[in-house]
Amino acid sequence: MSRYDVVIAGGGLVGGCLAVALGQTGLRVAVLEAVASDAASQPSYDDRTTALSPVSRRILEALDLWPDLQGEITPIREIHISEQAGFGYTRMRADREGVPALGYLVPNRRFGQVLPQRLQHQPGLDYLAPARAVATRTTAHGIELTAEDDEGRQQLLKARLVVAADGARSVLREQWDLPLHEHDYGSHAVIANLTPGEDHRGRAYERFTPDGPMALLPTTGGRCALVWSVADDELHDVLALDDAAFLDQVQRRFGYRLGRFRQVGRRAHYPLRGHVVTQPLAPRGVVIGNAAHTMHPVAGQGLNLALRDVAWLAQLLAEAERRGEDVGHPALLQRYARQRQADTRLIMGFTHLLLASFGNRLPGLRAGRNLALKWLDIVPPARRAFMKLGMGLGTPLPALAAGCPLNREEPR
Ligand SMILES: Cc1cc2nc3c(=O)[nH]c(=O)nc-3n(C[C@H](O)[C@H](O)[C@H](O)COP(=O)(O)OP(=O)(O)OC[C@H]3O[C@@H](n4cnc5c(N)ncnc54)[C@H](O)[C@@H]3O)c2cc1C
Repeated sequence: MSRYDVVIAGGGLVGGCLAVALGQTGLRVAVLEAVASDAASQPSYDDRTTALSPVSRRILEALDLWPDLQGEITPIREIHISEQAGFGYTRMRADREGVPALGYLVPNRRFGQVLPQRLQHQPGLDYLAPARAVATRTTAHGIELTAEDDEGRQQLLKARLVVAADGARSVLREQWDLPLHEHDYGSHAVIANLTPGEDHRGRAYERFTPDGPMALLPTTGGRCALVWSVADDELHDVLALDDAAFLDQVQRRFGYRLGRFRQVGRRAHYPLRGHVVTQPLAPRGVVIGNAAHTMHPVAGQGLNLALRDVAWLAQLLAEAERRGEDVGHPALLQRYARQRQADTRLIMGFTHLLLASFGNRLPGLRAGRNLALKWLDIVPPARRAFMKLGMGLGTPLPALAAGCPLNREEPR
């Protein structure tokens, strides 16, 4: 039987980043990842492009992951929010706010090239893949996790803490019987890369349409990443469209701000279901990332919120380890849960508010929200408050978010 301080179930974006963060502590860690990183079915490192906030950038810098992502990062210089057939719009510009960028686009596949590589060579870490977590059992002084490989061979891992980062359909969350608030958005996100007729100039567009929001995000090679919310009952028809008809539908909703779309790549789709655990804790267990919360991608917040989960959990575990305390102690886990509550509520609320405000088709409300968009555009304090929320600056930040690695005392 192998013994660890922390076993992380799930080596996707969130579990992988937590494992890298714990590499800055003296803790002995194992990561179990169900799917090989180069498999086409890898659910975390897929065709999506993720918008990261400046706070997430600082966390990834403190983990020394940011330099490895270079070459595929596209800074967001401007965000343009509008409603189809509406008169109002809001523009947020990095130069006007005195920051280098409002956010950054990174392809998930790039993370898939970087993170598993890092984990395979990290001292003090065992990276087991493909291996899935199937069950846990608490004992008098710890927790045991049963792992299973693709041939059905089982292995028992003993730890002081198990972190479930095993995604939205978390097996461990189910086993631990953690209650969830769930929400079905009744839609799917259809994603694809588009080539616009004009240079995107680092501008990200959020366009609210009567059918749901559509985002066009700037990426490398002059392309844009499309995230289009399509009602469940229309998904089949949208996926059946040929390239020209698909581009035509996007163009109708988006307009000609980027000229005429010329090309579209492979389409993929994701069911949009939201959930949040009422309490992310079990005896010697904690859930983070998609296992703890998922939300509509309209505000691009899921991974940004989860990276702050990672940064806070790693910081509390590092402090406990320095003091020689038990990293699975209930008091420590309670501290983590309390710490994450406000941020999680704020970001889930922000996302729901955005969707609810633009989801209502009443004509009076439409005029009101277009006035609100105009107001945000011309009133700097209102715009900055909105941006602060979107950038994850609404609640206190952990040390990693100040760019301070866990093995250093002071922020650099
Ligand atoms: C269309 C779309 C667009 C998005 N855009 C953005 C954005 O712009 N910005 C943003 O911040 N967020 C965005 N998100 C959210 C973001 O993708 C998620 O927050 C992120 O994927 C969460 O990562 P995770 O590691 O928690 O879960 P996952 O990515 O689901 O990874 C879970 C991992 O656990 C593994 N696993 C599963 N079960 C087991 C098991 N039993 N044992 C071991 N391993 C297991 C899986 O193989 C996988 O590798 C978007 C989401 C969608 C759907």
